[in-house]
Amino acid sequence: MQISDAILELLRRCLLVAGCREVCGVLLEGADGKQEFFRLNNFAVENHRFTTADFEFRRARRYAEHRGLRRIAFIHSHLRGTLMSLDDERFFLKDTIPWVIVTLEADRLIWRAFEDRPQATRGHSSTT
Ligand SMILES: [Zn+2]
Repeated sequence: MQISDAILELLRRCLLVAGCREVCGVLLEGADGKQEFFRLNNFAVENHRFTTADFEFRRARRYAEHRGLRRIAFIHSHLRGTLMSLDDERFFLKDTIPWVIVTLEADRLIWRAFEDRPQATRGHSSTT
């Protein structure tokens, strides 16, 4: 997983401005390798959480399709640390693209990518 310097700087600024609010969005990439961050609305009432909606993901998908961009990763921020919460894990397992968690440490952006999902067991165990 590669994230361009321009996007990392953009994310850093988004997080600085967002304060206690979590930031979430989709990382998109064109055939030329240029990346875009498509920010999604976070509807969570509380700070330190994110809740987005299917129509937000559809908005991102339409935007990407119209511009011939690929969806590279789902990104969201934490106030502290880049480990997944239990809710994160649950939604990550249902998703199909990599996830990235970003946070600020002394105004520096730290990020971690999650790309591997355990294989779904389909009952094809080969017992001999
Ligand atoms: Zn999270």
